[in-house]
Amino acid sequence: MSQFAMVIDVGRCIACHSCTVACRENNNLPLDMIYNPVTTVGPKGVFPNVHMVHLPLLCMHCENAPCVDCCPTGASQKSKDGIIWVDEKKCVGCKACIMACPYGARVFNEDKGSVQKCNFCMDLTTLGEDPYCVKTCHQKARIFGDLEDETSEVYKIVKSERAKPLMPELGTKPKVFYKGLED
Ligand code: SF4
Ligand code: SF4
Repeated sequence: MSQFAMVIDVGRCIACHSCTVACRENNNLPLDMIYNPVTTVGPKGVFPNVHMVHLPLLCMHCENAPCVDCCPTGASQKSKDGIIWVDEKKCVGCKACIMACPYGARVFNEDKGSVQKCNFCMDLTTLGEDPYCVKTCHQKARIFGDLEDETSEVYKIVKSERAKPLMPELGTKPKVFYKGLED
């Protein structure tokens, strides 16, 4: 069984925000909603030795997902491929998952009355394609793959510990890994 994951190489990201726009367009999101912001950390250091990184964020598709555990209706679910997704028909808008998510990955759609989030573009990825944010990244900063496939680039990068998740101390076991981040 596949376990989908993503590696983001912050050394390649130039904060063009193409991924954010591609995601919004293809998911038909309202203008005030995004699933995958690109943030900037820094600059740090003392001139002339200063540096900063661009940090694209999205749902981490946690193996131990508090957003799934707290959902009273079963709307927040994990697929057999490890994708965390929301069945909007079952969502009652209680927002418990928004409060439970330590990564701020969920947004509430006021018009629909339901929570929404990145679902690793399930419509594409279950057919073997890359998510829209990966397809659109001309910098090749995003790599999508399968942690159960030893030939996958994502598998090789993660197993060689050249990329690490955000806030691993929380025990959520994210499946989005960052390459090039300082400790
Ligand atoms: Fe960074 Fe690629 Fe997104 Fe542009 S499309 S902001 S380079 S991750
Ligand atoms: Fe759930 Fe947040 Fe983890 Fe995504 S990042 S799986 S929304 S706890």
